[in-house]
Amino acid sequence: MRMSRLLSTTLRETPAEAEIVSHQLMVRAGLIQKVALGIYTYMPVGWRTLKKIEEIIRQEMDGFGAQELMMPIVHPAELWLESGRWHVYGKELMRMKDRYDRDFLLAPTHEEVITSTIRQCIRSYKQLPLMAYQIQTKFRDERRPRFGVMRSREFVMKDCYSFDRDEAGLDISYEKMAQAYSNVFTRCGLNFRPVAADSGAIGGSGSHEYMALSEVGESGILFCTQCDYAATDEFASVAPVPTGVGEEMLPMEAVHTPNCKSVEELSVLLGVPANRTVKTLCYMADGVPVVVLIRGDRQVNEVKLQHVLDCYELVFATDDEVRAMGMEPGYCGPVGLREDIKIVADNEVPLMVNHECGDGRKDYHLIHVNYQRGDYRIDTVADIALVSKGAACPCCGGTLDFARGIEVGQIFKLHTKYSEKLGARYVDENGQEHDMVMGCYGIGVGRTMAAVIEQHHDAHGIIWPISIAPFEVEVIPVNDRDEWLMAESEKLYKELQKRGCDALIDDRRERPGVKFNDADLLGFPLRVIMGKKCRETGMAEIKIRATGEVLEVALTEVADRVCELRQQMFAALQAPYQWPEE
Ligand SMILES: [Zn+2]
Repeated sequence: MRMSRLLSTTLRETPAEAEIVSHQLMVRAGLIQKVALGIYTYMPVGWRTLKKIEEIIRQEMDGFGAQELMMPIVHPAELWLESGRWHVYGKELMRMKDRYDRDFLLAPTHEEVITSTIRQCIRSYKQLPLMAYQIQTKFRDERRPRFGVMRSREFVMKDCYSFDRDEAGLDISYEKMAQAYSNVFTRCGLNFRPVAADSGAIGGSGSHEYMALSEVGESGILFCTQCDYAATDEFASVAPVPTGVGEEMLPMEAVHTPNCKSVEELSVLLGVPANRTVKTLCYMADGVPVVVLIRGDRQVNEVKLQHVLDCYELVFATDDEVRAMGMEPGYCGPVGLREDIKIVADNEVPLMVNHECGDGRKDYHLIHVNYQRGDYRIDTVADIALVSKGAACPCCGGTLDFARGIEVGQIFKLHTKYSEKLGARYVDENGQEHDMVMGCYGIGVGRTMAAVIEQHHDAHGIIWPISIAPFEVEVIPVNDRDEWLMAESEKLYKELQKRGCDALIDDRRERPGVKFNDADLLGFPLRVIMGKKCRETGMAEIKIRATGEVLEVALTEVADRVCELRQQMFAALQAPYQWPEE
């Protein structure tokens, strides 16, 4: 490609609306252009990178046995009514009507269509297992699109679906995809981490998110400093550390605690450490009162709680609602609570001995309370605690640390959630019908590109990993009036192309400074500078964008050296897992 012909504009100024570096650089380097809020055109340079990421994904999907297909963007409402998601998906789903007034939607995801496709062509256990994927544009009408293609409304995504006979089969497909994902992100040059995650709106249990570590990431990750445990902050669990274990249970006692509502005040007044107290929180879950118990020094993770309660809306009860439950706000407690009110407790609570809690009556608290003695009832015990940095690892007891990440991919075990609703069934050896067991696996392609830029840039611009660079090497003749220099540069450019390098020549009639600035901004991994002294000395310079290193190389050897460096750069991005044999 010739820079003089390239459909691209680089900007000196940072666009005002771009909050994060990747967004700023993608606009400044002319990779994307905004069309509407959260809707972008990929310009030729950006599109080249996107296509390279797609190609890596294709190779890894095919290598691990998935087949590519292409599903439509526009779906009929019928399929989404069958799955039940037409009504529950909310405003992110872009609904529309055709000329006959029939309901359609712009697909935010493809579980319904793939399940319907598979149910029409799979009958027998002999046709399973099966994995199918596509790389497609999707649409989610985000409330707050931002960060460029990182959180846009229209976005390119790879989605893959697996169909198995049983759970054991699903485990194998899931593991294959986990390996494929590690290969994809390694080859793209990302510093990433797979973390155990909440399966959210898509449903099913068993999920990992692939997080590109980055300060601008919208997800929190807790990871163990001593073992492999890592989870999103919405999902992380903590090893229960119940207090008072082994002590003799003392008689329960009510103590007068006027105007003393917070855990801190109480700790001081009673001389009871916060970890020996139990907090009682009152919620309304879809309008039904629920009482939640958690150790006094911990916080409730409402995402986890919402899953445990399986509710859509979870809000704190108002003071009036608390009184309607029979308790005084600020003095709530589980002892003697009405039978019709559900009580959910965090894992630690039933194990605690001689803990303190509210009495329910104004100005009173109870001490030496014991669930194990039957002082109160619990309906559900679950992990509902918010985990923070410094907590104990649930696997090894080590210390958890915190980092931020950009979610670039997620893999889910869907089990039979969709096959059951949409009737995707197969017949086994004995003529018995079963629901297929499904998994689904997504990668945000544009978001991966943005995440790479977040991790690979400096003050001057992007620093592309070679595998996804729009161009691998750029030839820059510094003087466009020197015919000999231009001819030599052209020769080198063509030689590099002939040898399979993705080469670009900056043949514009521009000052060297302009060319160098643009080269830094665009961030191609290798640059050959054909300088003024080239003719005299017979030497050119190869500059490595990532390190800034400059190599003086004889003109006759430049092509060789570039190819060698290119090879080394690819070798450094080698995938960790081998493809299974066919
Ligand atoms: Zn650990």
